[in-house]
Amino acid sequence: MKQKQSSRIICWTPSIGLLMLQSGKQISSYWVQRLESDFGQAYRLEKANGPSGGFDAGPYDVLLNDEDHHSCDCIGHLRWGTYCRHICAMLQLRANSAPIELAGEVEPVPF
Ligand SMILES: [Zn+2]
Repeated sequence: MKQKQSSRIICWTPSIGLLMLQSGKQISSYWVQRLESDFGQAYRLEKANGPSGGFDAGPYDVLLNDEDHHSCDCIGHLRWGTYCRHICAMLQLRANSAPIELAGEVEPVPF
């Protein structure tokens, strides 16, 4: 029987937006950027390690919409409609009240 794939967050660095996930023995890291959205909380996840342009390279846009349903651009979610590792990771970050800055929201510091 095929084991259900699950991933967990092993590291989140909000100052640079770097997220590290572990799925089994595989560790993936993603650059996370918050996006403007009228429908919920939106984030862009772009793979920071491994070969770019591959099957799992992204970027993926994740939308957390509690009134409707959470969604993601990745093949797994589009095909099966299940909550993929990207959605699960963002839900975990939110559940832990981890700070996620909106890109461009930080004011430049005058000298
Ligand atoms: Zn996904």
